[in-house]
Amino acid sequence: MEVKLYNTLTRTKDNFIPLKGNEVRIYSCGPTVYSYAHIGNFRTYIFMDTLRRMLQYNGYKLKHVMNITDVGHLESDADEGEDKMEKAARKENKNPYEIAEFYTDAFMKDMKKLNIQMPEIIAKATDHIQEMLKFVEEIMKNGYAYETSKGIYFDISKLDQYPVLSNRNVEEQIAGARVDVDPEKRNPYDFALWIKAPENHIMKWESPWGLSYPGWHIECSAMGRKYLGEQFDIHTGGVDHIPTHHENEIAQSKGACGKIPAKFWMHVEFLQVNGGKMSKSLGNVYTIEQLQEKGIEPLAYKLFCYTAHYRTKLNFTFEGAESSQKSLNRLREGFIKQKNGTDKIEEEIIEDYKNKFQEAINDDLNLPVAMGIVWEIIRNEKKSNQFADLLLEFDQVLGLDLENSPKYINEQAKIELPEEVNELLKKRQEARNNKDWTLSDQLRDKIKEKGFIVKDTKEGMTIEKI
Ligand code: AMP
Ligand code: ZN
Repeated sequence: MEVKLYNTLTRTKDNFIPLKGNEVRIYSCGPTVYSYAHIGNFRTYIFMDTLRRMLQYNGYKLKHVMNITDVGHLESDADEGEDKMEKAARKENKNPYEIAEFYTDAFMKDMKKLNIQMPEIIAKATDHIQEMLKFVEEIMKNGYAYETSKGIYFDISKLDQYPVLSNRNVEEQIAGARVDVDPEKRNPYDFALWIKAPENHIMKWESPWGLSYPGWHIECSAMGRKYLGEQFDIHTGGVDHIPTHHENEIAQSKGACGKIPAKFWMHVEFLQVNGGKMSKSLGNVYTIEQLQEKGIEPLAYKLFCYTAHYRTKLNFTFEGAESSQKSLNRLREGFIKQKNGTDKIEEEIIEDYKNKFQEAINDDLNLPVAMGIVWEIIRNEKKSNQFADLLLEFDQVLGLDLENSPKYINEQAKIELPEEVNELLKKRQEARNNKDWTLSDQLRDKIKEKGFIVKDTKEGMTIEKI
């Protein structure tokens, strides 16, 4: 079945065919590891996960790179301010390498909780300094860059076209720019490829221009080319990357080898909070752990993300997230009912659902429509393990770990057990230890009256809400 993806470069939904046989080569801009990633960042990585899973569902093999930015991302994307890593290191009284290690680790743990598949290659910027230096030297040699007292800058006027991804009108923006333009720059939108390090900068390397460090954009150009070649299939990131980071990545690749590095550029719209921007000053930058503290599972947040298409803004509220938690519980319960069902379903019905689901995900990852089909199956009056198998097949794309539904339900039941039920359970366990089966059964009935079913299985006791 055809796969269609929206391409920011062409501004249309295009038919997707890999450049090289059955293999899809993808590059995803990864996190800047100077603090905990927030739920907005994870909207982008949940999209990355469904993209991977959809392509695999369609039979493609993947070669996917995600970078870890551990140097060079300044406070503003447009090369203003301090390196985010160095600033965090000073604040936390650690060195930037320790900061990077700590937050990379935290990021990976959250990715796991969200059941996000890891790309085949994870590439740290500081492990690729030589590749980046070589890339900058090629750009210089081809006449697209120049040196100033601050570093090496890309000369955008040398390009046939800039910008190519965004609609922005560079002339207009220059006229309206509020920031003072560095007088050494040839054009206001020239950007840093390599930055000469101030005395107190910790992360710095020998280079033809003295001790210095890379600009933010060069890492993605250099690592993308190293692992995926000069041209690959898909490049992903959030919409904030369109006007600067990705625009500049394209400029760099054109400067070095005359090519736009990826065929498809895919961008995720922003997650908003209570209808506005997420920002530290508003105190609404939530992490996955903070959602968990409020009883919202990471997978419920993933399901919440599926309520909107990735190219539309999504508004986060706790009410919305709680309702996704309830939906997830219902989904799991519905899945178990199907698993235990004995109705026979005609093969055409299964095929019809399969086609509709695949049509939805292949249509530029239309998860809201795909989820509509999942709910139709859950609500179907017939209960059948054929439907359960179908849901498991769909879960290869959804990544909601439906297979383990009984485990999650049990865990939740444990958490929500009222004190009086806990007491009855304890008494029942004592009765069983004393082999007093009559009392044990009476206590089981009492627990049932309180709304819980106790089951004694080979693996031990389980308790479920009625
Ligand atoms: P960063 O760690 O700042 O480099 O961002 C990591 C990823 O998260 C990038 O792809 C950003 O575009 C994306 N991102 C940042 N904020 C949001 C948001 N509010 N909603 C969705 N994606 C975001
Ligand atoms: Zn990038």
